[in-house]
Amino acid sequence: MSNYLTLTAEDYSENEPASDTARQKPRIRGQDGEGNGAFGASRERRDGTRYSHAGVDFINGPGAPVYALNDGEFRWAHAPYPEDSRFTGLNIKDTNGNTNLYFYVKPSIKPGTQVKKGDLIGYNQDLRLKYSDKMTNHFHFEVRENGDKNKIIDPLKYLGWK
Ligand SMILES: [Zn+2]
Repeated sequence: MSNYLTLTAEDYSENEPASDTARQKPRIRGQDGEGNGAFGASRERRDGTRYSHAGVDFINGPGAPVYALNDGEFRWAHAPYPEDSRFTGLNIKDTNGNTNLYFYVKPSIKPGTQVKKGDLIGYNQDLRLKYSDKMTNHFHFEVRENGDKNKIIDPLKYLGWK
């Protein structure tokens, strides 16, 4: 867990300003040419076995800002996809003690930072480097009860959006 990354302004000179809607309630990726971004969507691994999508994908362009969906403390950045270390994720412990994960996000804050909902936490990475153009660019948001990957919480219910 030593893969701490921080950014300089030059890294993201092409950022578009985010609308208030994107900051407060980003849109969810539906079905596209690479699959479905909904929580619980059925996915297929390369070996043909199936699994359930453990988070929800929020549409966000490459290099666009990512804002915290919840209050908490940023703990660390890591590489959640062992097969492709270019992509990073943020681990934030929220005020309920649950773990909030943001994948495909390069952090702009340092470990230990207290974040409030709506705070800038990083910038979206470009999924076209990993998938085809049929993939809608997004970040993946996942909630684990007390950090337990076997205790996955529906993010939209958790956020009170449904
Ligand atoms: Zn996802």
